[in-house]
Amino acid sequence: MSASNRCPRSWPRRPSCTPRARPAWGSARSEVTAPAQPKFAADAMLARLARWLRVLGWDTTLQPGLDDTTLVRQANEEGRILLTRDRGLLRDLRPDRFVEVHHDGPLEQLRQVVRELNPEPPHELFTRCTVCNTELSPPLSDAERAARLPPDVRELPGPARACPGCGRLYWRGSHAKRMRTALAHCLTDWLPREVL
Ligand SMILES: [Zn+2]
Repeated sequence: MSASNRCPRSWPRRPSCTPRARPAWGSARSEVTAPAQPKFAADAMLARLARWLRVLGWDTTLQPGLDDTTLVRQANEEGRILLTRDRGLLRDLRPDRFVEVHHDGPLEQLRQVVRELNPEPPHELFTRCTVCNTELSPPLSDAERAARLPPDVRELPGPARACPGCGRLYWRGSHAKRMRTALAHCLTDWLPREVL
């Protein structure tokens, strides 16, 4: 990891929650603020970032077929923070709330979004489907685990959940463990250890 990629030692203090006449989210850090549970609209180039945001529990739409005008209009109407690397889009369509993403790697992108918005950390990871953005079910019961999980993962510790949207199942396997480790490195001092 290069020096420029190192995680910061500390995160900026959460901005004051004093209401503003008009939210002024954007890339100028002094102007950035965010609700405790931000909602995002990721442009088509940021699919992997969208998945990481969903791992943190944040409602993040990703609609690759959408034209830029519709993307910005929907984001504005739904109160979403638009995430894009497209300066032309920002200049021409001027979304209400946005973060101009500067990095290539999805984890660096995630760190930038968290640093600029400084939202409340989640209390739990993997509560939203990383594929379809639907909130996951409450943890499966023992009977549901026995009926739905592959035999070799039924006894793993930690909750298992299902996605009501697409049917995918989530459990604390090796893949989830690697993702938690990556988040621990990326979001040091922001993500509480008990969440990991
Ligand atoms: Zn799903």
